[in-house]
Amino acid sequence: MESGTHPKFTKQIKGVFIDPQIFTFPFSCACAGECCNYGVYTDLTEHDNILGIKDKIIPLMDETQSKNVSKWFEPPEEDDDFESGIAVGTEIINNKCTFLDKNGLCTLQKLAIMEGEHKWKYKPIFCILFPLTIFEGALTIDDEHIDRLKTCNKNPVQTTSIYEACHEELLHFFGEKHFAELDEYKNEYLSAFYSGVAKNG
Ligand code: SF4
Ligand code: SF4
Repeated sequence: MESGTHPKFTKQIKGVFIDPQIFTFPFSCACAGECCNYGVYTDLTEHDNILGIKDKIIPLMDETQSKNVSKWFEPPEEDDDFESGIAVGTEIINNKCTFLDKNGLCTLQKLAIMEGEHKWKYKPIFCILFPLTIFEGALTIDDEHIDRLKTCNKNPVQTTSIYEACHEELLHFFGEKHFAELDEYKNEYLSAFYSGVAKNG
């Protein structure tokens, strides 16, 4: 995620290229968390942090989850889209992410809320960003994942964009200063986009 060039995108904010499709893709998040059924890739640092609080996580798990820590993660793999350069996937247990409980709640989020901390304190950044993702150094739509979900996809009757639907998540990821830059880029992109539509249509 360092500076450089990208074969498709020009705008880069906080070391990440921006796929402008996020500004126009119509979307609303309206299901019970089907996205968690496939697990997630965590950064090695996030993986280490999660294992560091295992004693607080285990008591919150129910009978559909494994309390055996060695079953929580897949083997690590190299991936430049992760800050440490290493990604570690969460295992699927009982057809859902190892951290998803029987009520569809993420145990990592549950713990943070119980402690009175920010709800995403322990949650992997790729969980927070979904249905957006970072792919080959660019913030983009995770179409590979949303295509295999039943309810989570392009919603043609929806008037909000995926960018608007993910406002809180993007603000969390970029921070206020960089989010303001992203918003400025959105305004520039959309005004050029709609003037192009008006000219051609
Ligand atoms: S992101 Fe998609 S799958 Fe996940 S809760 Fe929202 S609509 Fe459901
Ligand atoms: S870590 Fe939590 S939010 Fe992420 S996929 Fe697993 S259950 Fe879902």
